Amino acid sequence: MRNLPDKTVERLSQYRRSLNNQLEKGKTHIFSHEIASLLHITPVQVRRDIMLIGYSGTLRKGYDIKEMVELIGKIIDTSDGQKIAVIGLGNLGKAFIHYLQEKKSKLDIVAAFDINPDKINKSYSDVFCYHFDQIEEVVAAQGIRIGIITTPPEVVTDIAKRLKQAGIKGILNYTPKPLNEQEGVYLEEYDMITSLEKVAYFVKIQD
Ligand code: ATP
Repeated sequence: MRNLPDKTVERLSQYRRSLNNQLEKGKTHIFSHEIASLLHITPVQVRRDIMLIGYSGTLRKGYDIKEMVELIGKIIDTSDGQKIAVIGLGNLGKAFIHYLQEKKSKLDIVAAFDINPDKINKSYSDVFCYHFDQIEEVVAAQGIRIGIITTPPEVVTDIAKRLKQAGIKGILNYTPKPLNEQEGVYLEEYDMITSLEKVAYFVKIQD
C-alpha cells in the first residue's frame, strides 16, 4: 500500500470528507458515480482510486461508506497523528492554526515559529510560538514531522533548508515563491494568488 500516486492521496482525503458528510446525512452505501458527482470527477477515476486501495463494493448496494472511511483512515492517517509546526505566525499562519483546531483532524499543530519579538514566547490559540532559532531543538523534542511555511516569500528558501536540517519530512509551502526539491522531504506548493488568478481568468472569459 506504499507509494500511492500523490493525486490519489489527495483524492482519498477528499473522498473521506464527502463520505463523512454522507454518513452524517444518514446514508450507509454509495456508488462510484455518486462520489464522482460530489467531487466533479469521473466515476472511472473514483473506481480506479478505490481499486488501488484494495476495496470493493457490492454491485447492488455500492460501497459501504463507514468501511471505506475507516480504510482510508488506515491508509492516510498515522496511528498517533502527525505533528505539525507553522513557520510565520502572521495572518495566514494564525488562520491555519485556528482552522485546523476547529476540525476533528488528526493533524496536530503543536508549535509555531517566528522571529518577531512581539509574537515569540507566547501562545496563540494554545499553540506556543518559539523563536525560529529554536527550530532544531523543538522539532527533535516534540517529534514534529511537517512544516507549514507562511512567512514572506523572501525567506522561504532558507527556512526550508533549516527545516530539512531539523529533521522535517514534509513541507507545505504557502508562499508564492516555489522551493527546490530537497531529498527526503515531501514538498507541496500552494500558491493562493495563482489559484485565485486562475479562477479570475476563467470568470473573465465567461463574460
Ligand atoms: P503581521 O503583520 O502580523 O506580521 P502578516 O501576515 O502581514 O502579519 P507577513 O509579513 O506575511 O505578516 O509575515 C508572516 C509572518 O512571518 C510574520 O509573523 C513574520 O514575523 C514572520 N517571519 C518573517 N520572517 C521570518 C523568518 N525568517 N522566520 C520566521 N518567521 C518569519
